[in-house]
Parts: sequence; C-alpha cells; structure tokens
Amino acid sequence: MAEAGSFADRVKSQADIVRIVGDYVRLKKAGQNFMGLCPFHSEKTPSFAVHPVRQIFHCFGCGVGGDVFNFVMDMEKCAFPEAVRIVAEKCGIPIPRQRPPSAEQEQATRQKAALMEMHRLAAEFFQENLNAPEPGHGGTGEGAVVRAYLEDRGLAAATIQEFGIGYAPAGGDALLRALRAKFADNLLEASGLVIRDEAGRLYDRFRRRVIFPIANESGKVIAFGGRAMGDEMPKYLNSPETPIYSKSRVLYNLHRAKNAIRQSDFAVLVEGYMDTIAVATAGVANVVASCGTSLTETQAKMLYRFSRHAVVSFDPDSAGVAATERSLSLLLEQGFDVRVLVLPSGQDPDLFIRKQGAEAYRQKVAQAPPYLDYVVGRARSAAGGSGLSAASGGAERKLAALNFVLPYIARIPDRILRSEWASRVAHELQIDEPILRQELRKSAADRRTNIQPRKEFLPGGVKLAERRLVHILIESEEHRGQLAEELAKRGVHRGTETEAVLEGLIGAVRAGKSLDPTAVAETLPEVDRRRLFEIVFEPSAPATWPEVASCLEALEHRQAELELGEMQRQIEEASRRKDSVRVRELLERKQQLRKRLTAAAE
Ligand SMILES: [Zn+2]
Repeated sequence: MAEAGSFADRVKSQADIVRIVGDYVRLKKAGQNFMGLCPFHSEKTPSFAVHPVRQIFHCFGCGVGGDVFNFVMDMEKCAFPEAVRIVAEKCGIPIPRQRPPSAEQEQATRQKAALMEMHRLAAEFFQENLNAPEPGHGGTGEGAVVRAYLEDRGLAAATIQEFGIGYAPAGGDALLRALRAKFADNLLEASGLVIRDEAGRLYDRFRRRVIFPIANESGKVIAFGGRAMGDEMPKYLNSPETPIYSKSRVLYNLHRAKNAIRQSDFAVLVEGYMDTIAVATAGVANVVASCGTSLTETQAKMLYRFSRHAVVSFDPDSAGVAATERSLSLLLEQGFDVRVLVLPSGQDPDLFIRKQGAEAYRQKVAQAPPYLDYVVGRARSAAGGSGLSAASGGAERKLAALNFVLPYIARIPDRILRSEWASRVAHELQIDEPILRQELRKSAADRRTNIQPRKEFLPGGVKLAERRLVHILIESEEHRGQLAEELAKRGVHRGTETEAVLEGLIGAVRAGKSLDPTAVAETLPEVDRRRLFEIVFEPSAPATWPEVASCLEALEHRQAELELGEMQRQIEEASRRKDSVRVRELLERKQQLRKRLTAAAE
C-alpha cells in the first residue's frame, strides 16, 4: 500500500502506468483507454485494459487488476518494496536511502532470516535421513524402511527428490542435536521444530514421520507436514504458527503450480500432501492443497490471482464431503467458477490414481461437472434416489431437495448465472420454476436483515444510476462530499448490486482521504473489486448536482418499490392465514407507501 506522502506514493504519482505496462505488454489506444493481450492469462483478443487517468489496469477476462505496483508485483513475482524500487528506477526517480529500521524491526528481520535458514537446514537433514544408507549412518537404518514404504505408495525416487520428501527419525532429538550447533535455544523454540517438555528439556516435534516440506510462494521452505509411519496420532502433524508460517496463508505446492495454473487457466484443489503429489505426478501440474485446514478466504484470494476457475477434488468420505461443501461456498463467494470431481466411494485422488492410472484421473478432471450439477445430484440422493416424480410420492422429498440446493444458488454472485441455474435446477428436480424462484427470494431475504432487492426485476435505468454514482464519488471533487453524506444518511444504495462498492467509496470520502480506486478495491471482496474496476473503465462525463439528485431519487424509488413488493407478499401470506387484523394493518401501510411514491414522482 502506498501510504500518503510516502516514497511509494510519490513514485506512484510520478509513474505513468501506460509506459510501465507498455514495457511488458503491447498496448493500443482504444477510446480513452489502452488495450492489449493480457500477460496473465492466454487470450487471442485483447481484454486487458489500462486507464491512463485513473492509473489502473484491469483484465476483463481473468479479473486481475490494480495499480502500477500491483502490475509489477504480479509480473515480476516480487513483493511490494521491490515493485516500488523497479517502478522508481524505470521512471528515473532516485531511491532514498532507507531510514535505519528500529531495533525491534531489525531484531524481527534477523529472527525471520534465521528461521528460514533453520528450515532450509532441517529440510536437508530430513532428506539425508531418508536417503541414509543401511544401518550405520545415524545407527538405525530407518531410512531404508521408509523408502520401501514410499515406493509401496507409488512414489518414485525422482518424485521424492522433486518434492523434497524426507524423514524424521524416531530418536527424539536428532534434529535438535544437528541444529544446536548453529542456533540458540530460544530461536529453536520459536521455529516450532522443537518442543520443551515439562522438565524444561527440548526435543524434536517430528519423530518417526515422513516429512513434507511446505514452501512459501517463492519456494522457500517455511514449515513441515509430517505423516506418522506407525499408528501414532495424529496421522498428520504440522508445524505450528511461527513468525514465518501461518497455515491459513499458504497453499501447498503453489510455488510449483502457479505457472501451470495460469497457463491452463484453472487450479485443481485437493486435500493433502499425498494427494497433491499423486495428482502432480499424474501430469496435472496445476494442483494445490490447503494444508491441514479447510480452505480459507486468504487462500482463495491467493489462488484467484492465477485463475478464477477451480476443480475441487476431495475425498468422497463424509469428512471429505463436508470439506468440499465448505470450500465450494467459499470459492463461490469469492467469484470462482467451480467444478467438482467426484471419485468412487472410498478413494482419494492418491488411491484412485494408483488403482486406475493417471490417464483415468486426467479424464475425470477434464469431465468434472459444474458444481451445481454436483449439488443437484446430492440433493436427489438426499431426497431418496432419482425418482422425484409425483408418482413416486415425492412432494416432501422434492421440498427437501429444494431446501438443500437453495443456499448454493442464492450464493451465486452473478445475477444472470443465478437465474440460469434456477431454471436448470427446477427442471432437474421437476419443480415448478415460479415456486423455485419464490423460495429463492425468500431464502435470500432470510439471510439479510435489510430488504433484499429483486434484482431480476429491476429496470435497467436504476443500474445506470448506481454506476453513475460510483463515477461521481470517484471523480467529482465538487459533489463527492455531499453525495457521500446523502447516501450514508438515506441508505438508498442498500441492497443494490453495487452496495459494497458504494459503501467502500463512501467510507473513503468520509475519512477525507484522497480517492484512490485501488485502495478502496483492496478492502472489497473479489466480486466487488472486479465490479468497481469495470465501472471505472466505463466512459463518464462531469456531473451536475441535479444529475446526482436524480440518481439518488431513482435508487429511492427502486427501494420503495421493493418494499411495496415485499408488503404485497406479506399481505398474501396473511390472507392465506386468514389473519384479517394483520391484513388490514399491512394494507394501510401499503397505501401510505404508495402515497409517498407518487409524491416523490411529482
Ligand atoms: Zn487476464
């Protein structure tokens, strides 16, 4: 983030994003923007745009976007400070000498560097133990047993080498002894590689386990996962959270898979180390796993930078199904297009590949159905088999199936896709479409406290008003302050498709910051970030206050209409219940609302 007044901020204001991006991508002027072939996904017609005034880029195909630093970070695969330095150099801005870091910062930097080095040595140590010759070296010959075990699991020597697999011997302090020569005890403890027992003695965390090194995005080992050789529990043991490792922010194998993910424009998501290695070895290089946790939002966002398509391939056992469904929800909310690979019962990807072969698995990946097909299938079996016709006595079971599917459909962020899926699911489950749509609206309304818009029925003009307000908040120094206050006060943007975007902008305006779309975008969920960028790239013209007022009015009118619809629904419901008191009360409120609407229209 370029803090106001910082060196990065100064570089950003002096850099011309068109020129910087132009060093990497051939750009052509198109209207007010520049367009080119996206360097982050493969395409034949340009969908990659650079906005010379707003100084941002955005790909309408794969969704990457941001400011000049984001571009250089993605392009050069480097961290923020490095990107600032690169851009400064390209613009000929002299780089100031760093202010000396505080003693604490220096201490933290030194500690991290030592921990990284320790992990590098530990990885070597584990590999040496696995490759140790017969008894004599270290005195145990455990390595040979483990090698036989791995070979039995179908891991060739080359694979073991490639994935840096190692072995932690049973002894209890072998690693400790190896590291103590170089590192102080407090550092060893901070690494999580050793633990202190009650008597205060240090000993190895990983004992008698096959070791899988976990690397960060640049391929440096920062943690380990260990699989028990015997019956020890837990079967899998991972490094704890340390100054260099946070499990929710790391995807196993991402450093090897990211280029393949970008090239194939999808990622395969599996559960564990063995599955990842089996799948990668089967020729599917674009595979990653969340390590020892169900997928997190951060992990989904990390993945999104490389592709917005994912194939989820988890164990079909019951824990696997739950994990699949949690990951599905999360990926959908982050705007992913998801397919689900279902393997025969009792087989994880590793076992399946060993039994059926690599080609069979690759076919499964290629044919994995869209996630709603998977969900509908689950709903059918939950409702008792495929016979959902009235003849098989299925009214209640249909309802059960419907209730199972609804939350998934309601979560699809894109309105058109959501509507398509509603039709398709209605057909599949043999449910009348109007009933399904009505239930869908109800389930959406239940999820939120404020009024849920019937997006399907909104007139086009209103959406135009929303987009216009976004532009005015970003561009109009004259009107943005007053507009932000009006929106905050009247809340007419609540429930619109751009609600999150407008909220973000209102927050920034009211905080008195200079309005940087990239900074606002960074605070938004993926779907909204893309929405904001897409709006920014639309042409716009200077605004007058009467125009602002008319946009606000359009939103207000829409909100009142929604309320009216909701009230009508409640009236129908109350009259079905024959609750005449409630009906009368609702009718009165409806009339008042009508009056307000006509008054506003005049
Ligand atoms: Zn792209």
